[in-house]
Parts: sequence; structure tokens; C-alpha cells
Amino acid sequence: MGQLTGKVALVTGGSRGIGAAIARELAGAGADVAITYATAKDHAQSVVEAIEAAGGRALAVQAEATDADALRAVVEGTVSALSRIDILVNNAGIAVYGPLEEVTLEEVDRTLAIHARASFLLAQAAVRHMTEGGRIINIGSSLAERVPYPGWTLYAMSKSALIGLTKGLARDLGPLGITANLVHPGSTDTDMNPAAAPEADEERRYTALNRYCAPADIAATVLHLAGPTGRNITGAAITVDAGTTA
Ligand code: NAP
Repeated sequence: MGQLTGKVALVTGGSRGIGAAIARELAGAGADVAITYATAKDHAQSVVEAIEAAGGRALAVQAEATDADALRAVVEGTVSALSRIDILVNNAGIAVYGPLEEVTLEEVDRTLAIHARASFLLAQAAVRHMTEGGRIINIGSSLAERVPYPGWTLYAMSKSALIGLTKGLARDLGPLGITANLVHPGSTDTDMNPAAAPEADEERRYTALNRYCAPADIAATVLHLAGPTGRNITGAAITVDAGTTA
């Protein structure tokens, strides 16, 4: 028996990077896991197959995070396929950056929709099914705490919205036995931010430990919050950034 045996988790953006690591970690602890993806169906299927090969149960659902109907449908689809939902991880994200004057209105709307609006809507839809308590874990960014280099205003703003979302949810949902927390990754080796890219050296220099995080580092903190060890943590933000914001 794992610490999450009998639980069902929904992880958005579970096809790659941090979300895939979270899905595997929660499944390894015994949870049945639904993951969402935007376009990378093959990657999502690989994550499902890896979880099944390890003896777990998983499914992948296409759900564009800017589409409110798709988000509601993925919650209902998870409940009808896996019977319940106990853990929601709002992880899907994009990195739009560059000179402030070049950011477009479409990029502003899309970034806020994927990071903030989708997380709100998914939480709202999922808590209806968390009848025995639950866990909501939002994936923010160390850039919501400090912005040490230019070009990230929009991204930082969109991730900062998750601070208010998390604290509000903690207050709204505490009486229902549902916790809400925020994990702030720093530079983490994924397709979004490869540790081998030439520009990664600059990000590495901002860390105290002179290294990138691995997706598994973030996933381990999510498991801590999702499992029994996290029962009295709510409204909190935990930063896993190798010391970038130290
Ligand atoms: P990634 O490797 O690029 O993966 C992004 C995931 O989000 C994929 O599963 C992708 O689906 C999904 N996604 C993207 N746009 C979507 C949309 N419009 N609708 C639905 N799903 C969408 O990124 P990552 O590095 O793992 O990042 C995961 C989270 O951590 C993000 O919220 C990111 O902002 C945050 N974060 C990352 C870092 C870092 O250094 N990597 C640092 C701080 C915070 P497809 O595979 O279908 O494209």
C-alpha cells in the first residue's frame, strides 16, 4: 500500500517536464492519475504507459487550458473514469518572455488564461468532487517572488496571481478539509528551460547551489503536500529553486 493508495489525482500539463514527473511520483505512491496535455499526445501516452508498466493506473486527456469548457470536461471525465478526485495539481504552463514593449495583447491574455484563469476554474470544478477532503497544489515560479533579470514581467505577474488564488482557496476550503498550496520551482531542466542550453549558465549563476533543479525535485515536494505529511500545510508557498531567491 502506498501513501496515496485509493486516491485519484488530476495533473495538468502531465505530458512533459515537471508535470510528467509529478504524475509518475503520485502514481508511484499509489494514486490513480489523470494527466492533461495540449498537443503532445504521444508524450502523454508515454507517461501513461510508464505508469501502467510500473503497476499503476493512468489516463491522458487533451484539454486546452484556455478553453473553459474543456477544463470542466476534464474534471468530469476524470471522475467518470477514475470514480473520484482527491488531488488537483495545476501545473500546465508556458514561458512567454522578451522585451516589455514587444509583448502582445494576445500573449498577455493567453498567459493569464493558462496560469491563473485555468487554475481557478479547475479548482472550482474539482472541489465539488472532493467530498472527503482533498489537496490542491498550484505550480508557480520563483519569479513570482523575485525577478532577478529583465523580460519576465508578464510571466511573473501571471504566477503571482497564484499566490492570491492559493491563499483564498485555503480559507474557502479549509472547512471542507481541503488544503491549497503553491510550489515555486526555480530553473528546472525541462523542454521549457533546458539545463544544457547556452543561456542556462546565466540562470545557474543566480542559484546558491550553482545547479538546475530536476523535475523530480519539484515532484517530491508535491508528494509531500499531497500525502499525509502535508495534512496541516495550507495556504503555504514552498520554493524549490536551488537558492535563486535566497
Ligand atoms: P514544459 O516542459 O514546457 O511542459 C509544459 C506542460 O504544460 C506540457 O505538458 C504542455 O502540454 C502543457 N501545456 C502548455 N500549454 C498548454 C495549454 N495551453 N493547455 C494545456 N496544457 C498546456 O514545462 P515545465 O518546465 O515542465 O513547466 C511546468 C510548470 O512549471 C509550468 O507552469 C511552468 O511555468 C512552471 N515552471 C517551470 C520552470 C522551469 O524552469 N522549467 C521554472 C518555474 C516554473 P503539451 O506537452 O501538450 O505541450
